[in-house]
Amino acid sequence: MSDTLESSTNSDSMQHDSTADENTIEELEDKVTEIKRKKENVEEKLIDVRSENRKYKQKLDRMSRENEKLKQSPLFVASVEDILSENEVVIRQHGNNQEAVTEVTREQFSELEPQDRVAVDNSLNVVKIISDEIDSRARMMQVTESPDVTYNDIGGVDEQLVEVREAIEKPLTEPELFENVGITPPNGVLLHGPPGTGKTLIAKAVANKTNASFIRLSGSDLARKFIGEGAQLVRDLFKAAREEEPCVVFIDEIDAIASKRVDSKTSGDAEVQRTLMQLLNELDGFEDRGEVSIIAATNRVDMLDDAILRPGRFDRLIEVAEPDVAGREQIFQIHTRGMSVGSDVDIEALAEMTSETTGAEIKSICTEAGMQAIRDSRDTVTREDFENAYSKLQETKKNGSNAGMALPEGSRSAFA
Ligand code: ATP
Repeated sequence: MSDTLESSTNSDSMQHDSTADENTIEELEDKVTEIKRKKENVEEKLIDVRSENRKYKQKLDRMSRENEKLKQSPLFVASVEDILSENEVVIRQHGNNQEAVTEVTREQFSELEPQDRVAVDNSLNVVKIISDEIDSRARMMQVTESPDVTYNDIGGVDEQLVEVREAIEKPLTEPELFENVGITPPNGVLLHGPPGTGKTLIAKAVANKTNASFIRLSGSDLARKFIGEGAQLVRDLFKAAREEEPCVVFIDEIDAIASKRVDSKTSGDAEVQRTLMQLLNELDGFEDRGEVSIIAATNRVDMLDDAILRPGRFDRLIEVAEPDVAGREQIFQIHTRGMSVGSDVDIEALAEMTSETTGAEIKSICTEAGMQAIRDSRDTVTREDFENAYSKLQETKKNGSNAGMALPEGSRSAFA
């Protein structure tokens, strides 16, 4: 009996053991599954972190590169003045005009020519040659094949036109007249007078009449924008003019480079002096200049250096003043030529009314009168439109602004 009991107890305990084992296996399997899931999670996170890490690394690289760039000092622009032997050249830094001898690589030495522009570092090593294509100097000269302005488009400057034609047009169209008499024609003429009186127009009309190209250059651009390059630009200007001959060179605002010399030692002034000297050189070398005529213009003739006005240079001074009443009438005629003007418009009366008005201002009165007609949906411009436009101009001049006024092309300071 006790045997039977014992065996039944044993079998119970065995069964119990096997159930316990099964439970443990299940638990273990669950744990393995759980661990696998966690592992997958961790792996996914790892991928994310790695990708983040890559991104940060790229960002770091980029910032390090930018940092390096910021740490590098900027390059300076210089011109090659002279080519020496054995890979050495003389360069002149723009801005301070300091000259230095610097060594260049063999390749650079074979490429460089005098007047080339180069970029140099702090130690004046030539880092690169600045190619001609990106040379902004060329952009500042406005070359026109043959401008479309004629003498008929300019009013109130009859006397001035006679003088300019004699000095510029005749030597180009009838050079034999000067040869027969045995005189050399004037080198250049200088037009002076208030802004907007037609100085540029006169130069353009001469170029048109002589079938010459027209190159325009502004003295103030030369002095302000191209510090260190002014003299080179003047050389380039005359070179371009010789290539385009016959050619009329128009130097506007010449006072910016040819003002009376003052005893100042700043590098800016020295630079302007160099530019002026180069201009005088070009004027003096007239024989080599071929069919190139020079017209300069200024609003400040009183400021000009005597050197520029000496015989053989700009020895013809022609004043282009504000037009008188007859001149204003002519200018009104010119600018209303293409306009549909009402029968009540009396040009003579308009000219009487608009005293102390320049050609550019008369042009703007005409444009403004036309704008008023358009605003009122009319095809014809009336006397009242002109009168209102004139009042508006006077108002604008009093306030010193151009607000609301139609400005003609080229009349930058007509309302100053
Ligand atoms: P700035 O000294 O400012 O260069 P400017 O004397 O050269 O002036 P222009 O550029 O010739 O003046 O004139 C500007 C515009 O004004 C011309 O395009 C033209 O429409 C008009 N104008 C000026 N003067 C006259 C004039 N005498 N006859 C006809 N139009 C004129």
